[in-house]
Amino acid sequence: MKRISHWIDGKVAAGTSGRSGKVFNPATGEVQAEVDFADVSEIDRAVATAKAALPAWRATNLSRRAEIMFNLRELIDANRKEIASLLSLEHGKVISDALGEVARGLENIEFACGVPHLMKGSYSEQASSGVDVYNIRQPLGVVAGITPFNFPAMVPMWMFSTALACGNTFVLKPSEKDPSVTMFVAELLKQAGLPDGVYNIVHGDKVAVDRLLEHPDIAAVSFVGSTPIAKYIYETGTRNGKRVQALGGAKNHMLVLPDADLDMAADAAVSAAYGSAGERCMAISVLLAHDSIADSLVSKIQDRIPNIKVGPGDEPGNEMGPLITGEHRDKVAGYVAGATKDGARVVVDGRDGAPSDGFFLKPSLIDNVKPGMACYDEEIFGPVLSVVRVGSYDEGVDLINSNQYGNGTAIFTRDGGVARQFQFDINVGMVGINVPIPVPVSYYSFGGWKASLFGDQHMYGPEGINFFTRSKVVTSRWPDPRTSKVDLGFPQNR
Ligand code: NAD
Repeated sequence: MKRISHWIDGKVAAGTSGRSGKVFNPATGEVQAEVDFADVSEIDRAVATAKAALPAWRATNLSRRAEIMFNLRELIDANRKEIASLLSLEHGKVISDALGEVARGLENIEFACGVPHLMKGSYSEQASSGVDVYNIRQPLGVVAGITPFNFPAMVPMWMFSTALACGNTFVLKPSEKDPSVTMFVAELLKQAGLPDGVYNIVHGDKVAVDRLLEHPDIAAVSFVGSTPIAKYIYETGTRNGKRVQALGGAKNHMLVLPDADLDMAADAAVSAAYGSAGERCMAISVLLAHDSIADSLVSKIQDRIPNIKVGPGDEPGNEMGPLITGEHRDKVAGYVAGATKDGARVVVDGRDGAPSDGFFLKPSLIDNVKPGMACYDEEIFGPVLSVVRVGSYDEGVDLINSNQYGNGTAIFTRDGGVARQFQFDINVGMVGINVPIPVPVSYYSFGGWKASLFGDQHMYGPEGINFFTRSKVVTSRWPDPRTSKVDLGFPQNR
């Protein structure tokens, strides 16, 4: 059986806790690896290693740090297929989708190549007579990343790209469900020239996470995962004096107005609801269909669903793979079962005809859904699209704004004025106008509002640079004997 161990000080470190977890092949349901779970002493070792590597790394000049990011960019680019296959084997997503994940992660590395420009401070000459004032951005120290199963390559790249480029050293606790790809990328970081100890990986569960949240030498924690855990991470981390950004779950609504191109809207809804088996925090899970076009739109989506090819991620031509575990598949299926009892209409039931090996579920479409039903109120995180019929733009906006989550949303319309009003009205962090999955490009930043993000800074891009640095302001005067005198007054400029 394959064993996945930690990565400490530039090499694989066998686990010593005696605890481990199972890694499944979701397409077959078989256990394909065991992953070591770290205990407190192993976390302490990884943090001590990162702490020891910090002085030399933060003193490494910006050109060299940028060069390592450029080297990594080349290595990831050259290994796209291998990275995609590795993550697909443990996550289950189809290869084309996995390649998309790698491509989006690569964009974050490319952004970090610009670190000499991104870390520039500001300078005010002659703030007072002979006095100059400037600010510089410095790394925080040893920082930690804790990541979810659904983007095992991209989400760690969101974090370590800017964290490392800014001069921090890093300890990653990846998802225990699909951890192999992080080990592969750690090897690439080493090949790119990153000194040993600057980037470390510890696998595990709550034991590992809790130690990172308490450890006195961890300066900041970047987290992506479900909302209850994000809230816990934010509260525990900040209570322990750390800077925390904790991205949580989502329930993304797509509002389709009567003037929208309905075929385009149906294509977009199907792609955004069922891509990656709905296991994306930016997946569309609720379709708000205006009453006047709802019947037509539901029927167009229903027509498209049988064409979606469901099967193992590594079989060419498949478009949707299995869910991550059998337990999660059963939970998602439970929402479809519950919808009928709650009075909704299951138009397409994904429990019918799913491959029996592995953790498969086919796409489900539920119509006449209303707030108060579990399939509307809760994050399902599977291939289930709920349709809520609305009588007006205002009704749609009210539903979106009163939802507990605020990650992504989209409007489909040909009316530019209404679209502009939507972007003004809506209490959501990422908005698409005729774009169903508006994941920001790497030179913007990613983050939701409300229960989709705890903390102030969004992930990657300019806000990622802010998160992983702190500003220092220097007030300086060069000695000039001609102007020197004793003056006990408070320093002032005029
Ligand atoms: P999860 O919250 O179960 O796990 C995330 C991380 O937290 C993992 O590393 C896990 O080991 C750890 N963890 C789990 N339970 C813990 C506990 N009790 N105490 C301490 N640590 C714990 O999330 P997941 O199932 O891996 O990922 C899916 C979730 O992530 C969905 O809710 C999805 O919406 C969300 N997500 C959000 C974003 C975003 O950007 N907002 C992106 C991707 C995924």
